[in-house]
Amino acid sequence: MKKFCLFLFVVIGLSLLSTGCSEERAFKRIRFLMGTPAEITVVAKDKKSAYEAIDAAFSEIRRIEQLMSRHKPESALSRLNQRAGEESVETDRELLYLIAESIRLSRLSRGAFDITVAPLIEAYGFNKAIEGDFTLPSREEIAKSLDLVGSDKIIIDDENNRVRFSLPGMKLDLGGIAKGYAVDRAIEVLKQREIDKALVNLGGNIFALSSPREKGWQIGMQHPEIKDRIWAKIELKGEAVATSGDYERFFTAKGKRYGHIINPKTGRPAGAVLSATIVASSALEADGLSTAVFVLGAQEGMELIESIDGVEGVIITKDREDPRLIKQLVSKGLKERLLHKERRYSRLW
Ligand code: AMP
Ligand code: MG
Repeated sequence: MKKFCLFLFVVIGLSLLSTGCSEERAFKRIRFLMGTPAEITVVAKDKKSAYEAIDAAFSEIRRIEQLMSRHKPESALSRLNQRAGEESVETDRELLYLIAESIRLSRLSRGAFDITVAPLIEAYGFNKAIEGDFTLPSREEIAKSLDLVGSDKIIIDDENNRVRFSLPGMKLDLGGIAKGYAVDRAIEVLKQREIDKALVNLGGNIFALSSPREKGWQIGMQHPEIKDRIWAKIELKGEAVATSGDYERFFTAKGKRYGHIINPKTGRPAGAVLSATIVASSALEADGLSTAVFVLGAQEGMELIESIDGVEGVIITKDREDPRLIKQLVSKGLKERLLHKERRYSRLW
């Protein structure tokens, strides 16, 4: 399995950060959290308080990981998954909020984003850490898992903080949205500590607070097929960006490629486009919508992007007529903002 760790990465060199602001410096730390590299950069005058703020933001991400992880049996999400198919389960307010937001995005994307895909994720083995454990489920297995999919089958009792699934065997997977939420929370923690110039990057889920440069932070979008190559750059300030692609987690069986983002309608991996990048006002929305748009494909995906105020995006696809070419669709509000290193069309070989 090929693994590109970061779909989006910060292009700007740290040395650039001090230009124009002589007393301010950039402080950066990297940790491994929520199964991915977490990188926090803070621009401030005082070294000690900058690193304290960064560490507090990492602790916040760690706290969310404890709550939302499917790999930790004691997490609030795991407890819900173990019992909510049988009975109504009292749960954490924050988890409830994330489930409610996921249901909102599911409705917005007409079911393309759906956290109840968990049984399908398990059927393919994408929930496992070991690469060799991926499997191709049979038609019957897919059909059985599909019966358990649908956000309308999650019953929330908001007043009493309780959740119940309408069918036993149902499970939730927050892998398509929890990292974005964690980035938003980390930014809140930095703001509480009076940090106003910062960048949080959790495995390609990015929020850019104001930066020393007038134009903001320069973020590189990963080329969907060539490792370490930047497809385009974008400058961000007070905004989030996220990319979904199947070049992160996939396996090949019988000559076909199977990626980790599942179409909840068919129960099969989505793969109509190469990547979907979303710019939004929160990292949660950018994260959820990038997964949704990857499932929807080029046309429906761009329609969804254009229909939401304050949301922009780039969809990269293979050219239908000539598969040696890849092309991009860019939302109206982003056209002028995308900085291109490459020409509009790029040769693969
Ligand atoms: P992302 O990289 O943000 O697009 O998230 C991909 C992850 O979201 C997968 O690894 C699964 O854990 C989960 N997922 C897969 N398909 C879907 C879907 N259709 N809706 C919501 N979450 C999904
Ligand atoms: Mg996502």
